[in-house]
Amino acid sequence: MSIDGKSLRAAIEQTATFGAVDAAEGRGRTALPASEANGAAREYFCERLREAGLDVRVDAVGNIAGRWTPPSANPEAAPVAVGSHLDSVPRGGIFDGVLGVYSALEAVRAIQRSEAAPTRPLEVVCFTGEEGTRFADGVLGSSVATGKRSVEEALALSDGETTLESALDAIGYRGTGRLDAGDWDAWLELHIEQTTRLADAGVPLGIVTDITGTTRCHVTIAGEADHSGTTAMDDRTDALAAASELVLEVERRATATAETGTGTAVGTVGSLDVDPNVVNVVPGSASLQLDIRATDQREIQRQLDAVRRLLDALERHRGVSTSLTCDYDVPPTAMSERCQQTAADAAAKRGIPTRRVHSGAGHDTMQVATVTDAGLLFVASENGHSHSPKELARWEDCTAATTVLADALLALATETHHDT
Ligand SMILES: [Zn+2]
Repeated sequence: MSIDGKSLRAAIEQTATFGAVDAAEGRGRTALPASEANGAAREYFCERLREAGLDVRVDAVGNIAGRWTPPSANPEAAPVAVGSHLDSVPRGGIFDGVLGVYSALEAVRAIQRSEAAPTRPLEVVCFTGEEGTRFADGVLGSSVATGKRSVEEALALSDGETTLESALDAIGYRGTGRLDAGDWDAWLELHIEQTTRLADAGVPLGIVTDITGTTRCHVTIAGEADHSGTTAMDDRTDALAAASELVLEVERRATATAETGTGTAVGTVGSLDVDPNVVNVVPGSASLQLDIRATDQREIQRQLDAVRRLLDALERHRGVSTSLTCDYDVPPTAMSERCQQTAADAAAKRGIPTRRVHSGAGHDTMQVATVTDAGLLFVASENGHSHSPKELARWEDCTAATTVLADALLALATETHHDT
């Protein structure tokens, strides 16, 4: 089986021209979900799928699936699916998601050219709205394909100006029906790593064991706004000073948690609003957003417990009143042993070094893993930057990883003991 690395690179570089941004630091693209640039990327992708003889369909929320039923396959057998996404964050990199859909296509093309005789159909997939940059906070299409969100609910989502339904209509990608990931025998996704663990280890390919869980919370701290010149220090209820203690506690607790257990814990206060935010007024209120992650739910809980304890202490010692609401809670997701092992065996046979790693970012695969066996592979990231034009992977690593992807797909698609 031999991967056409040139074709893979050409498709990624062509997709980089849709929504290309000026960036001295590298090549970037802005292709928000269902935007014009995303529409152009979809158009090019569907053309490529059809060229490869795949049967293309688009579901009601714009998920794209191209199916190939090999002559050797039972057309009724549950397919093995593979893919990623074509939308990006503003000023995103050219590999994020794009590598995943085109490595999927090149893997299928390599299997088509080979003598192999898969017994299951193969399906190349592009999910709608993986990045949480428009309409939803991420993994939109895959949440519909796994039944977490209804088609109607998804189509009604608004970006403040238009709905997903109208935006998909405008680019011609509101299809019919619902892609059902539960119909797949197995799923694989290849993605750029987005950190430097693989590059640091000199390893081109990562096999993901777990995708991190993420909990996001909104904290408000209410004190009292007062004149900064006339209010004595022992007379103040300074909301920002209290908030500062919380920011540091989140950092301290995540650091301490990461030193034990899975070593995957992280905690961030990424957003802080101060009111009235005026130089000569003691801050009256502060509102913060926390993002807490780990691959072990207990490590997320431990960090949240510390936040609660600190808020209690702030109420007692600083006289502020506080509130905490956590409205985003995605549990950690383990990748299927079968998919991990199949990929590890494929890489070993090719003599391609791998390392088991966790994913600190969410991906469509964490949704798919709730309904079928799912695996996630990472290509080494040259400098660790992602969601940035600095994002970079070596083309030879992309080709090597796609070779492993193709071998793993073929192995999954020729197994017989999982027949439905
Ligand atoms: Zn991505």
